Amino acid sequence: MSKHIKDLTIEKLMDKIKTYITDEKELSIIEEAYKFAYEKHFDQKRLTGEPYIIHPLNVAYILTRTNADYETLSAALLHDVVEDCNVSIQEIEEKFGHNIAILVDGVTKINKLNLSGTTEALINNQRKILVGLSEDVRVIIIKLADRLNNMQTLFVHSEKKQKSTARETLDILTPIADRLGIGSIKQDLEELCLRYLKPDEYYDIVEKLNATKAERDNSVAKMIESVSELLNKHDIKHEIFGRSKSIYSIYKKLEKGKRFSDIYDLLALRILVDTEQDCYQALGIIHSKFRPKPKRFKDYIAMPKTNMYQSLHTTVFGVDGQLYEIQIRTYEMDKVAEYGIASHWSYKEKGSVKAVMQNEMEQKLQFFRAIMDLKREQENPEEFVNTVKKEVFQNTIYVFTPLGDVIELPNGSTPIDFAYKVHTNVGDKATGAIVNSHMVPLDYKLKSDDIVKIITNNNSAGPSREWLNFVQTTHAKNKIKNFFNKANKEENHKKGEEILTKELRRQKISNDEFFDDEKFKKLLSDLKCNSLNELYGNLGSGKLSIDTVMNNYLKKEVNKEEKIIEKASKGSQKQNMSNSLVSIAGIPDIKVNLASCCNPVPGDRIVGYITKGYGITVHRMVCPNVASLDERLIEVKWNTESSKLPTNILVRTNGLNNALIDIISKAANNDIPVRQFSSHRSKEDEAIEMTVLVNNKEQLMKLINDIKMIPEVTEAERLIK
Ligand code: MN
Repeated sequence: MSKHIKDLTIEKLMDKIKTYITDEKELSIIEEAYKFAYEKHFDQKRLTGEPYIIHPLNVAYILTRTNADYETLSAALLHDVVEDCNVSIQEIEEKFGHNIAILVDGVTKINKLNLSGTTEALINNQRKILVGLSEDVRVIIIKLADRLNNMQTLFVHSEKKQKSTARETLDILTPIADRLGIGSIKQDLEELCLRYLKPDEYYDIVEKLNATKAERDNSVAKMIESVSELLNKHDIKHEIFGRSKSIYSIYKKLEKGKRFSDIYDLLALRILVDTEQDCYQALGIIHSKFRPKPKRFKDYIAMPKTNMYQSLHTTVFGVDGQLYEIQIRTYEMDKVAEYGIASHWSYKEKGSVKAVMQNEMEQKLQFFRAIMDLKREQENPEEFVNTVKKEVFQNTIYVFTPLGDVIELPNGSTPIDFAYKVHTNVGDKATGAIVNSHMVPLDYKLKSDDIVKIITNNNSAGPSREWLNFVQTTHAKNKIKNFFNKANKEENHKKGEEILTKELRRQKISNDEFFDDEKFKKLLSDLKCNSLNELYGNLGSGKLSIDTVMNNYLKKEVNKEEKIIEKASKGSQKQNMSNSLVSIAGIPDIKVNLASCCNPVPGDRIVGYITKGYGITVHRMVCPNVASLDERLIEVKWNTESSKLPTNILVRTNGLNNALIDIISKAANNDIPVRQFSSHRSKEDEAIEMTVLVNNKEQLMKLINDIKMIPEVTEAERLIK
């Protein structure tokens, strides 16, 4: 936690600022602002006995943590001169320009907000605040830093004042810091609030943490070493830090009835990596070695929090059997987690990004405006606090099942969202809803504390397409769409079967003849179908015409252009080692390449294709690119079975959960490096293409089978391009 710096000087502050601001003009404006504030506050002292200027210096210093820009820093230095030194905003504007003046004005207005004041004062202030707030979000960020420094020196005040300031901070400012995603300031504020509001509990936790520190540090260091070694083995560049849990979050857990010894995430690590891919890969690798605690995994990368927070969270059983909470994120995500909305400052030089940021700020600010509008009618401060709280948390509601389980839903959710959150079957079979013992329509908007009972009917034909118009959660949307996809799939299958049966009858081909084992297998692979089911499905959906099927069967298909194969061959790997991998009867020393379209691996049935001038290209027998080139094919065979070769696989998932981690875990379990992967998400499913390095076919097939066992995976196959 950061501390108030008693002997802070402008030189120290400037040193810190110069670590990220280099523009001479900007730096000189900050120094001018300091000089101005220094003169104006010259004979003033804080209650601590320090010269007043120490306070604005500290506020600016806190803001450097978020890489605040020069306007924000200047305004921070000037933030109390209007209020305390009778300086006018006009004077600030003349000296420092419009932008800085607006910030100072905004902070001055906010500081006049007196929550214990009369109704009239509240209404007056809120109008001023409304104006100030709507102009620039940086006003609020300065206010947060101002409050943090005031909390850091709160000990000089009376107990009554300490408690009321802490209460106000916890009720209004920390939710705002959270909402803006400024985690670093939020944590410090929360901790200080706790110290003044619940000193006994606070010091009790501090003591317990101290008593167990050496032991915890030791465990964490061992775990870091072990995880780091594991990641190094898989070539994932990373940094790992032991992470101390905030005192406030420990307090919250104790308050919920947990015992200190039961708070397992006291042991916590944070892993920083370069890319999002690395995050998932690191997680998969860690899960393959350390058993994850069920239901503790959270993917905030795929589903960022509303304050833009992104990270992977998991809890695993470590080397010593103890539980460790692990966060994995990129450096960029880490910055957002610490500074939230403020982290975008550092990108302003990119020009257009500033506009994007402004837009995001606008969105974040809308809720403030809503509060301010509402407040006009408020009767007393308590009500105001409640409204702020409600608005801050407006995005989430908590409702109950009849058994008292809490279900968290986004605001605006309906009984259908609730039903699918409870269970897919409940959603699919829902016919009605009872909320607080009243029958309600299915598009009824749920409120916090509602008790919701879903009426289901096992004979229900399934969800209605109408529901898609009002459900709020993507979860419910996906489930409903899935239902219809599945229904369609069955329909297509039936249709496809009919089409084929009819055609076979027409051409007088018997089933035995058509479905002859070897021949049919060849047909399926020619048509790039995995199974008879897929063939029926593709026929039914129109993806495949019956003519194509029959032409393939009757081999009437026009020979494929040689161009295709030439192209495939040119793109093949130019690896000399292929020479020793594959041998060709009677032809020593010929150049051999492995085709990049089908990526054969030892164990695959293979065939050589004689290219014009590129030597022999080795394809898999089933590769459609060589299907019709008999005269230039040549028999080849594998020499070895132990060389890591790249090959491609395609995995489809139902897209409901992020299966990528499990897939990578499976690869790691099989000792198969994943060289690269890409994921394409559509509304209904996700297709993951990945290149893996395998020794032979057996190892590859084992991996594919393992991947098929993952519940979300609907298909896994080798990919021929
Ligand atoms: Mn101040």
